[in-house]
Amino acid sequence: MEIKTLENIDITLSPTSKINEVDFENISFGNTFTDHMLVCDFADGKWQQPKIVPYAPITLDPSAKVFHYGQAIFEGMKAYKDDQDDVWLFRPEQNHDRFNKSAVRMCMPEVPEDIFLGGLKKLLQIEKDWVKKGQGNSLYIRPFMFASGKGVVAAPAQFYKFMILLSPAKAYYSGEVKVLIAEHYSRAANGGIGAAKAAGNYAGQFYPTKLANEKGYQQVIWTDDATHTKLEEAGTMNVFFRINDILYTAPTSERILDGITRKSLIELAKRENINVEVRSVLVDELVTAAKDGSLKEIFGAGTAAVVNPIVGFGYKEEYYELPKLENSLALELKAKLTNIQYKKADDTFGWTV
Ligand code: PMP
Repeated sequence: MEIKTLENIDITLSPTSKINEVDFENISFGNTFTDHMLVCDFADGKWQQPKIVPYAPITLDPSAKVFHYGQAIFEGMKAYKDDQDDVWLFRPEQNHDRFNKSAVRMCMPEVPEDIFLGGLKKLLQIEKDWVKKGQGNSLYIRPFMFASGKGVVAAPAQFYKFMILLSPAKAYYSGEVKVLIAEHYSRAANGGIGAAKAAGNYAGQFYPTKLANEKGYQQVIWTDDATHTKLEEAGTMNVFFRINDILYTAPTSERILDGITRKSLIELAKRENINVEVRSVLVDELVTAAKDGSLKEIFGAGTAAVVNPIVGFGYKEEYYELPKLENSLALELKAKLTNIQYKKADDTFGWTV
């Protein structure tokens, strides 16, 4: 697809740039932002003229509904630079789609494509020097929207702000990841907002994750809220299990975020003739497979790390260590996907934009 550049946009360039102050070799994820940001207000029932302005704090009324009722959604995506200095996005229309699905679920206005994708393209044109070459380097893109309308009345706001921030990132390495299977807490429920990228979903995960951290686990594998028997997601990633030579991942549902990495890995695995089955894996099945040695791999899938191998899991006070593999499917699929993202391999799917 081709993204149309948004022409109808007010641009105020920053008189100075911070780029020379940034140590791109030692950057911690999500703490450094580029010189500009995109801002667009929703007022009088419609989206107003989008603006690109110098990155700076914003002012809000203390009664803004986002603070009281949590009407806030976001997306996470990345821009990559190839060896010819061209900047690429990976399936950005999927992020736009998912953003608008989240908006509908949270009773917020949808953001049109020309503002979301066209505005992003314009912002990236201004900030292209912040996208560094080299596998692992990227510019993390954070589109978000919140209720800026005021009043402590529990009803949807009339005013919203849509913004895009850009943050340079290095290859994501989280160290060894051990996961704890949730026996009590849930991140989502049927009829709830788990399939939306709503801010509150993440706030609700912090406490159970903190408890898991205290036991020596980095992430929680969420189970279904009704029975806690089905494995659903790992932290803020979708999750894959390899039992013998079959890869399993749960079907998306009202409780699971429809991850773009997950769906891309499924398509890629099929192309590579890797057996992949979309079905829920049961906790009991996982424990049995770990005990009899048929469980080979578990990995998380998401934009930040692409693929994040998991070294072991905890369940009911027991720890199950995974085997160390020479030929890991996780790493094979990660290499194939990142080669497409960095234009080092043919993009037969037409995913890069
Ligand atoms: N699940 C959750 C809860 C997430 O926050 C994310 C990150 N967006 C994912 C899965 C992975 O989605 P994606 O591959 O689109 O980044």
